[in-house]
Amino acid sequence: MINIAIDGPAGAGKSTIARKLAANLGYIYVDTGALYRAVGVNAMRNGADTKNAEQVTATLSSAKVSLRFVEGEQRVFLGEEDVSLAIRTPEASMAASNVSAIPAVREFLFDLQRDIAKANNCIMDGRDIGTVVLPEAQVKVFLTASAEVRAKRRYDELLAKGMEADYNQVLEEMVQRDYQDSHRAIAPLKQADDATLLDTSEMNLEQVLEALETIVKEKI
Ligand code: C5P
Repeated sequence: MINIAIDGPAGAGKSTIARKLAANLGYIYVDTGALYRAVGVNAMRNGADTKNAEQVTATLSSAKVSLRFVEGEQRVFLGEEDVSLAIRTPEASMAASNVSAIPAVREFLFDLQRDIAKANNCIMDGRDIGTVVLPEAQVKVFLTASAEVRAKRRYDELLAKGMEADYNQVLEEMVQRDYQDSHRAIAPLKQADDATLLDTSEMNLEQVLEALETIVKEKI
């Protein structure tokens, strides 16, 4: 199977780009952040403090997280409930970042991610795909952009979804989340040694897609 790993900080455009590239290549797109978000939402619903490893770990047995692919689109389920929308709130973002620093949570989600990559040609995005989950991926890209550009993109995305948003708050939460994600002890956000760095601060969607397609053609 061919596996393409895309890592990078929040709002770098990973999901938008990965989704388009996957459609062009006929691969499935796997958004691993959704898994951490689902675990975070499940922990919050069970009254756990998402920074408390013991409390969060106790909620894992009730976290029946699964991914289903409907016409190539990933949907995230907690049991039989489709939580694909519920996991997109700012609270769920922070909860995901909190629970993702807990080793038991990363272990809990590891096989699920590996199994999908073993069975499918896929583009998987996240924070540790090139470094930990799929170190043998044929293509690895680290997608980034300045914090301001990323916050603006995320802010526009929230508005487009009809959610309320404040740019400064989005920026502040994003900086905090990136700091937390890159400084945790386990599987921190970082570029794999053999990943290609793509800074999209000054690029539009078409340019990023073109650059990525060139990288993929070179490697596969
Ligand atoms: O990509 P997204 O913003 O949806 O991810 C939410 C959170 O999940 C991230 O801030 C990060 O803490 C965590 N995450 C992770 N490893 C991944 C994907 C996401 O730790 N592979």
